[in-house]
Amino acid sequence: MTDFIAGLPKCELHLHIEGTLEPELKFELAERNGIELPYASVEEIRAAYSFDDLPSFLKIYYEGMDVLRTEPDFYDLAMAYLRKAASQNVRYAEIFFDPQAHTSRGVPFDIVIRGLRRALIDAENRLGIKAQLIMCFLRDFQAEYAMATLLSSLPYREWIVGVGLDSDEKGNPPVKFKAVYERARQEGYLLTMHCDVDQENSTEHIRQAIEEIGVDRIDHGVNSLEDPALVEAIRARGLGLTVCPISNGYVTDSMKADAIRRMLDLGLRVTVNSDDPAYFAGYVQENLVALADALSLSREDLVQLERNAFEITWLPRHVKDAYLAELDAYAAR
Ligand SMILES: [Zn+2]
Repeated sequence: MTDFIAGLPKCELHLHIEGTLEPELKFELAERNGIELPYASVEEIRAAYSFDDLPSFLKIYYEGMDVLRTEPDFYDLAMAYLRKAASQNVRYAEIFFDPQAHTSRGVPFDIVIRGLRRALIDAENRLGIKAQLIMCFLRDFQAEYAMATLLSSLPYREWIVGVGLDSDEKGNPPVKFKAVYERARQEGYLLTMHCDVDQENSTEHIRQAIEEIGVDRIDHGVNSLEDPALVEAIRARGLGLTVCPISNGYVTDSMKADAIRRMLDLGLRVTVNSDDPAYFAGYVQENLVALADALSLSREDLVQLERNAFEITWLPRHVKDAYLAELDAYAAR
């Protein structure tokens, strides 16, 4: 089954580029930028990755990205992920980036996006992996800062396919960003947002995302299963759910494998993704293998997960169809 998954044409839709910063690259960038890290070795960094909920993860996560300073740093970060993803036969990725995690510490927006964009172009030309960028707002900052970030993105509108919302959800509901999302929609961005797993008011936040924000997709969204009306709303609108099993295992009590099984059985467009693979020790291949083991997934289930993913991408119909044809050809072999 591991071999079958390795050969499967894959699609990743929930991936924070800052969460792909491996300890080896962290050391390299620290040296390049003359930054002293409080760790002596790669092993020491990995040992420090101990978190058991969202806030404890986020603390280590934001500390780690301080080594990202220049355009080549962001290029190298994205290129390392795209190389890894291509090696796992990820054919297409929609990549989150958090501009405020950088602008808030003095790194300009254009440095971040230019580095990422250049890597996407080079990866497509050299490795054949295609990717687009989704700009996320940090929900624990003020809505006004998110709006200012949205406005500063407009000169780069053609480089960004949509917007998302991440970071600490507690006390930061979707409606806090209603005006930001309305403006993003007007500017032509597609809309997604995190509805993290087992949060305070999880189901109410999912309801707000669907009904008051009008999202095109939901990141995580596992708790929707607790409310039949939400399941129906997700199904009726054909909304995709980008779920991250290994990540769930770190920040909640389990991978939520049974929930993913139920979503598949309900015909929801659930997908499997890696979230922050450098921190959770698993890229998309490892996530699919872990889930396949936990649920004894069939080949049909695995193909269905990837079909869902390609189907809910923010690509033109004919490009989606080309990837789906590739997937069908693999499944038929
Ligand atoms: Zn995430």
